[in-house]
Amino acid sequence: MRILVTGAAGFLGSHLSRHLLDKGHSVVGLDNFITGNVDNIRDLFKNGRFEFINYDVTNYLHVPGKLDAVLHFASPASPIDYLKFPIPTLKVGALGTHKALGLAKNKNAIFMIASTSEVYGDPLINPQHEGYWGNVNPIGPRGVYDEAKRFAEALTMAYHRYHHMQVRIVRIFNTYGPNMRLKDGRAVPNFMVQALKGRPITVYGDGRQTRSLCYVSDLIDGIYRLLKSGINEPVNIGNPRELTLLELAEMVKTAAGSGSKIIFKPLPEDDPKVRRPDITRARRELKWRPRISLEDGLKKTVAHFKSRI
Ligand code: UDP
Repeated sequence: MRILVTGAAGFLGSHLSRHLLDKGHSVVGLDNFITGNVDNIRDLFKNGRFEFINYDVTNYLHVPGKLDAVLHFASPASPIDYLKFPIPTLKVGALGTHKALGLAKNKNAIFMIASTSEVYGDPLINPQHEGYWGNVNPIGPRGVYDEAKRFAEALTMAYHRYHHMQVRIVRIFNTYGPNMRLKDGRAVPNFMVQALKGRPITVYGDGRQTRSLCYVSDLIDGIYRLLKSGINEPVNIGNPRELTLLELAEMVKTAAGSGSKIIFKPLPEDDPKVRRPDITRARRELKWRPRISLEDGLKKTVAHFKSRI
């Protein structure tokens, strides 16, 4: 297949592009580097099946030649980025999804949207299954991301129903691994850099909020299976092992062999109290489950961060 990946220089986009090339596909990568990093894809430029376009997907999109799939992975994805780029975050989820869907329709291509567990907001049920409609504050600081992704899902389903397009909606839960930025702002990279530098580890709130962390190779495997499936409805992909942020801080300390102390900082507004994917649908329909333990994943990620610090 010839596949367009928006956000190809980002954390997930770069892993996804590499995986698709490894599977023998051709990849057209697109990024405007608002949060992406060229270092993530430098090695791909040597591959004859990789093309790259430096472009903002919120503008009219023209890509010459055939396309079999359009995977829309462009978006700021860290809470500190939503605060810094609130309008680009809304635009890429809304206008960018519209442009990418229009292109996919023109090319008769499958369309995939990188959606998020944030569509569930600060959830009132735990774990979250795909039938849950969520608890989102539309005007809070995270609303720019959550609502853009919810709009993106609505638009994607409208194109599926009205234009009979093949669509894929992957609801991505917290993911970590190599190619995350040192200053990404999310819990794993923050804790890793702090642990490796012997600085205090900043836990927000009382650290009793929970997350469930998926290693990036597991996530990419799930996404690829979903792409090849015939499932047009949303599918959660994530690791259901749930832990508190305080437990995560201790685990990162251990993985990094660090003596850093843990300090507490204020909890950001609308920070979800719990998050855990119900992956029954992915298990049943995609025969997918995560394979990398948190201990192993953190070790691999520490090695990557050590090489970059
Ligand atoms: N968090 C933290 N310390 C940090 C960064 C994040 O305690 O230095 C907390 C944050 O408040 C949230 C959890 O870690 O409860 C996960 O945050 P992250 O930014 O990784 O992603 P989120 O799941 O909130 O989108």
